[in-house]
Amino acid sequence: MGGEVLYDGWCGEPIAWARLGDPVIGREWTEHGWVAVTDRLSAAEAFRKYGPITELVVGRNRGFESVTYGATKFVSRFVDPRGTGLYDDTVVVVRDPARDNHECPVCQAAPGEQCMSKKKQPCGTHSKRSQGRSRWEIEQADAAVRKAREEAEAAERWQREMATPPIRGAVLEVKRWMLTEASDDADRYTVEWTYANRTVQATAGSGERVFLARNEYTSGWHVICGQPTSTRLPCRGGGAGVPCTARHKPGLHLREDSSWT
Ligand SMILES: [Zn+2]
Ligand SMILES: [Zn+2]
Repeated sequence: MGGEVLYDGWCGEPIAWARLGDPVIGREWTEHGWVAVTDRLSAAEAFRKYGPITELVVGRNRGFESVTYGATKFVSRFVDPRGTGLYDDTVVVVRDPARDNHECPVCQAAPGEQCMSKKKQPCGTHSKRSQGRSRWEIEQADAAVRKAREEAEAAERWQREMATPPIRGAVLEVKRWMLTEASDDADRYTVEWTYANRTVQATAGSGERVFLARNEYTSGWHVICGQPTSTRLPCRGGGAGVPCTARHKPGLHLREDSSWT
């Protein structure tokens, strides 16, 4: 063979030739300018060379868009098979931007899928289809739903975690944020008791006894006043070096711990 001068814009296969000695049948615009050609690939030749037609794509106005012989897709009009009898209607796909890009608001067909009639049979594209949600809008809506669900799950996890008291013997860290920027600088306390108002009594390594409460926004632990406001509830006031200003009843003693829920 040889003498190829033009190639298909999609698959890159040769579609026109200029061979010395053969009669010129016309001219084609190529990367080298206008070239006299002696042969063009025809639909019948493509059929023989690449295989039977597996897809013929036409526009809404029935203009030729592409044809696939076997597994080789061409966009060149030389191999437009219409009128050749080389295919049947089952391989014809009508390119339809409304169908490709929009969900159908009538039958809910997804973008790219064919519309369905009321009898659940494939049917022509419903006229309102281009008013349906676009692929982009569907993606955005899905992302919003996913985000809302993740946030709800995170909030639930947080609530659960905040409602779960630490076990006795657990070590809690209290950041010394007042004194230093260093974030790993923390006082460590061992939990001894937990109380109904989400507070704990804990002991430092030095033996010092403190009451701690958890900040429900940062989840960090901080030192609180801890004096009894009843036999079950330590006072949550004070902390971080600020003395509690509440007046506490003398003579009360904390007696028991309780569930946090
Ligand atoms: Zn529809
Ligand atoms: Zn207090």
